[in-house]
Amino acid sequence: MWSERIAQALTAQRAADGWRQRRRIEHNSVREITLDGQRYRHFSSNDYLGLSQHPAVMAAWQQGVREAGVGAGASGHVTGYSRHHAQLEQQLASWLGYPRALLFISGFAANQAVIHLLAQKSDRIIADKLAHASLLDAASHSPATLRRFAHNQPASLAKLLATRAEGGTLVVTEGVFSMDGDSAPLAELAAETRRAGGWLLVDDAHGIGVTGEQGRGSCWQQQVKPELLVVTFGKGFGVSGAALLCDDATADYVEQFSRHLIYSTAMPPAQCCALLAALAQIQQGDALRARLQQNIARFRAGAAQLPWQLMASDSAIQPLIVGENRAALALSQRLAQAGCWVSAIRPPTVPPGTARLRITLTAAHHPEDIDALLEALYDAAGE
Ligand SMILES: *Cc1c(COP(=O)(O)O)cnc(C)c1O
Repeated sequence: MWSERIAQALTAQRAADGWRQRRRIEHNSVREITLDGQRYRHFSSNDYLGLSQHPAVMAAWQQGVREAGVGAGASGHVTGYSRHHAQLEQQLASWLGYPRALLFISGFAANQAVIHLLAQKSDRIIADKLAHASLLDAASHSPATLRRFAHNQPASLAKLLATRAEGGTLVVTEGVFSMDGDSAPLAELAAETRRAGGWLLVDDAHGIGVTGEQGRGSCWQQQVKPELLVVTFGKGFGVSGAALLCDDATADYVEQFSRHLIYSTAMPPAQCCALLAALAQIQQGDALRARLQQNIARFRAGAAQLPWQLMASDSAIQPLIVGENRAALALSQRLAQAGCWVSAIRPPTVPPGTARLRITLTAAHHPEDIDALLEALYDAAGE
């Protein structure tokens, strides 16, 4: 039974050019990666500010290890919650203007936890069509009804909200969309949600650290305060982990009832030390953010004449829509031959027929890296 099902699924995956190959990276310096003995300029990292290799962040992690070892040793509800966790939660809450922050070991876990805890049978979750898998999976596995509104269209949300609901309404979106790089119209989405008496959950995985004053992210930038804000630390923070920002009662509720917290080992305290150092770099990171913006502007100006559709994105995520899986893979390979590493993203991560190169830019790139990528793209376009 299982063997046949597995074999069929694998055959179908190969036939659809959908096979996902993990590549063994030998070295990753944010700006460059080495694999199979070959060095490439690196355009597939979410480490937008280069903090994963920042000396102060690495030193803080090492100091944390000397103070607290490498592991938390237990769930936070047993003995895994340290002063480092408490300090990080407090600083995140005050930085982002919320009463409370709760740490999770990943953004995936945070989204699962929040939706799992809130969504009951009579409730409805109304999510942007392109919301991340961790949000949509949680919603579709919950007893609530899942509806999806057209990507970044408040009018589409309003239409769905206009139908009466028995229970609660949770509207779900990302701040900056992970595969398109565009930003949600948060003020309009928040207004529609409030009018309907619902709650808004914003997952700002790709906005936090990168946009807004002091890197406070998409919500701060658009002056919106959702009831639930999830920020993740694997992207702009350069580390990993996540936090939920919310009011006191909601935080108490999550703390009391979240199985994802109660039955899971807490984040290593040394990692909290690294995250505190990354937070400090982000808060004083205007120069890094300016360099990233310059790289984005340089790329967009240079890419305007390419035959592939450049998406309307002013974020670090600059997707080029290629269309078919095979064509996207071929272009990715062609760029690799020219020394540029850009991953092709295919369905089901993106809608069918919109396979793309997901180009990500970082503050660590030099102008010559951007120029080399553009040259490789124009060369490929000319063939
Ligand atoms: C990466 C990502 C996540 C998952 O976060 P992890 O910490 O990597 O598990 C969740 N939501 C969005 C929008 C993401 O891009």
